[in-house]
Amino acid sequence: MAVCSSCNTLVLKDFVEFKCPKCAKHTILRCKHCRQTAKTYTCPECGFTGP
Ligand SMILES: [Zn+2]
Ligand SMILES: [Zn+2]
Repeated sequence: MAVCSSCNTLVLKDFVEFKCPKCAKHTILRCKHCRQTAKTYTCPECGFTGP
């Protein structure tokens, strides 16, 4: 199960995942929609927000 870090929607495909650029501990998931609309995400681990 993967949940988009921006909109908290369950994502099954067409998403990207990458480590938080600040703490590198938490894996950020972003759905296709949030990537296209450049929504910000928040790392639940350190509170880092990014585009
Ligand atoms: Zn999303
Ligand atoms: Zn982080």
